Amino acid sequence: MKEPIGFIGLGNMGKPMATHLLNAGYPLTVFDTREEAVSALVDCGAKAAISAEATASEAETVIMSLPTPEIVKDVALGPSGIILGSKVKTLVDLSTIGPRAAQNLSARLAIKGINFVDSPVSGGISGAEKGTLAVMLSCPDQQITWLRNLLGNIGNVFHVGTEPGLGQSMKLANNLLSAAALAITSEAMVMGVKAGLDPHIMLEVINAGSGKNTATQDKFPKAILTRSFDRGFTNSLMHKDVELFLEEAQSLKVPTGVASAVQKLWQTACSEIGPGADFTTIVQCVENRAGVEVKGT
Ligand code: NAD
Repeated sequence: MKEPIGFIGLGNMGKPMATHLLNAGYPLTVFDTREEAVSALVDCGAKAAISAEATASEAETVIMSLPTPEIVKDVALGPSGIILGSKVKTLVDLSTIGPRAAQNLSARLAIKGINFVDSPVSGGISGAEKGTLAVMLSCPDQQITWLRNLLGNIGNVFHVGTEPGLGQSMKLANNLLSAAALAITSEAMVMGVKAGLDPHIMLEVINAGSGKNTATQDKFPKAILTRSFDRGFTNSLMHKDVELFLEEAQSLKVPTGVASAVQKLWQTACSEIGPGADFTTIVQCVENRAGVEVKGT
């Protein structure tokens, strides 16, 4: 019999990750503020809890996948928060919240004897559904084996450090690259299409050449040329990640000229296209100004 697990935050990422744990045989207690998200997991065999505190009173290990640092802090430490749970001993955070928030949370939870594990993930909804996420685990060496066993159900576990916050630093570096690739590919593709090139041919050439990146290999062919804009990651989440990167880099006195330009484009996307729109709609900010669309046939 596997150990009971609590899971909080059953959104685009949380739902498939929680489902993998259920399928692997972990008895799961789940909580989300959206009732429909909870019912979907209950239909698959999970038990529903009425709050984060109640979830943390059902299992020694609680996992969370929540949108922002503020929400994570409130769910962990606020009224009816995880910190008040009667059973919880370890809290594993899969959300992107930045190194400082992870360090602060870890210190606050340690006072209550709760072990905080910083472990953000990358790979999008498709990686979450396939169980192939890159899991950036930062924990002391003696905890690696059991956490690898648990988190191995959602992806490939990389032990990136022993202190809380290093998983977040790893994740912010990764997501800045993903954001920058999508932003700069949008400008390159719009220029090519306006000049008269076929976007399919452009992608074929780039992917056979030196300009290849995650946007040319994945986002442009699957979500932009098709105009489906459905990668399942919002403009507001990408904007948050780039902002967190800037905060961290600036506090470490690392130059951020390119990252600042990327952040500006995502700010424009949030105000012009919408914070809840898919992050691939960033191309529309460039298209609208150039007066062309990067559309497939
Ligand atoms: P999402 O908005 O789809 O899901 C978040 C879930 O949290 C929702 O179901 C929401 O109802 C729930 N929630 C919000 N406030 C809550 C509260 N107070 N108590 C309980 N539940 C609450 O977000 P997502 O895309 O699943 O992302 C989750 C985290 O994973 C974020 O930190 C994000 O940056 C990160 N992430 C996302 C992706 C992606 O491709 N979507 C990839 C890697 C990492």
